Amino acid sequence: MKPSASIDKPASPWWLQIFREKQSYLDILYLLASFPLGLVYFVFLVVGISVGISTFIIWIGAAVLAGTMLVWLALAEFERSLATQWLGASIISPTQPAMPDATFMQKMVARAKNPMTWKALAFLFLKFPCGILSFTITLVLLAVSLGIVITGLIIGLITAPFVALPLVISGKSSPDQQLRKYLLFAGTGYGLAIISFLFISQMAAFFKYAARKLLGVSDEESRLQEMANRAAYATEQAAQADQRRRQLIVDMSHELRTPVASISGHLESLLMMTENQDIPSQQESLARYLNVAHQETERLGTLIDELLSLARMESDELHLDIQAFPIREAIEEVYELIAPLASKERQITLVRGVAPDLPPVLADRQRLIQIMLNLVRNAIKYTPSGGLVSLNAEMADASHIALIVADNGVGIPEEDLAHIFERFYRADTSRTRATGGFGLGLAIVHDLVVAMGGSVTAESKEGEGSRFLIFLRVAS
Ligand code: ADP
Repeated sequence: MKPSASIDKPASPWWLQIFREKQSYLDILYLLASFPLGLVYFVFLVVGISVGISTFIIWIGAAVLAGTMLVWLALAEFERSLATQWLGASIISPTQPAMPDATFMQKMVARAKNPMTWKALAFLFLKFPCGILSFTITLVLLAVSLGIVITGLIIGLITAPFVALPLVISGKSSPDQQLRKYLLFAGTGYGLAIISFLFISQMAAFFKYAARKLLGVSDEESRLQEMANRAAYATEQAAQADQRRRQLIVDMSHELRTPVASISGHLESLLMMTENQDIPSQQESLARYLNVAHQETERLGTLIDELLSLARMESDELHLDIQAFPIREAIEEVYELIAPLASKERQITLVRGVAPDLPPVLADRQRLIQIMLNLVRNAIKYTPSGGLVSLNAEMADASHIALIVADNGVGIPEEDLAHIFERFYRADTSRTRATGGFGLGLAIVHDLVVAMGGSVTAESKEGEGSRFLIFLRVAS
């Protein structure tokens, strides 16, 4: 069995150890390399940034700046590994939050907003002047101390037999004097070398510190970053869940639509059959039941359509076709569609008016018609027979047209007015249930108007009537 005790080698004194450590030579290498690297970074950054800024008015500038930023981030990564491997710096790398759904531009903006990007740039710029300085100092220190050591060696070993020995033999100098001279040179060289190595290690320590501060994150920052990443992940998960929910509503509404439309169609046919044929009086109730079933399926169909509209808007499936067109045309279309029915079935008069010289409006024509139909139908629904509903357009201000739907109907209680654009909100449940609404129509109107870049408000006085105002942009 081998003896387990090992004999510890006596540690050499620090002034000897400093020359035996690999780190001392890695420090020298790092400092010498800092100058050419710093120069390359400096030239690249100055050219990249200047070209980017000077061409910024055309798209090339943004691309050049983005490209320069990507390269400087890569250079910072390289410097980070250099400082870690050569200087032994412990640097906590900053992590860019993953943005899988973001566009290239959004990612670049996020990078530009990250302070780490600018700290990295500062480090790369700093590398040039500090690199020159450290390169020069390292080279001078090494050259001087090496020069003195070599001189000492030359005096002591090479020239001694020719210069010192004859002097000693002829009695002009003592061996002690010559030895002292030699030791003085060798000692000075060695001492200077120690000082040089100490100084070099201090310069390396400065770079190490700068790299840690400018290229890495502190413990606290890293913890914060970790927490921010977790929060971003949780938000992303929540957003995905939300998106799935919306998609579910879209899919579900799609699926419900066809069977409900089919039931409604069949009920309608049955109704027509019962109306056309001369049915015995005991079967009259059949017609009544069919009527109710038909109305309810119609209602269900409306609800599905409204849900689908809202879900589409939420899941960004709403594609607007914004164009400039005369609002008069759209108003006329709505009037033609509704006026005859309103007067025939409800004895309500629908009037319309458009201010002269109204500029074209900027909107999605079909959606605007949908909005107006919704408001006018509501106005008719909540106005007693013999009432008046008006549809007008006029200038609201220099850049907006106001579309006004007014009625002299039942009005909306003050406490409800602030909520009527909310989903499923019905001002007076008992009253409106009889009229068949689900409280989604105005929410859809609101979302559509906002999507078109406009706004909608409502004014009303209970018992006197209501006014809905939609503000839309004019085409310039
Ligand atoms: P609904 O389908 O129930 O009519 P809306 O979202 O269109 O749903 O309207 C929400 C509520 O606002 C209605 O329930 C009704 O009480 C009220 N409302 C809307 N328009 C008018 C109006 N012109 N006059 C009076 N009340 C109205």
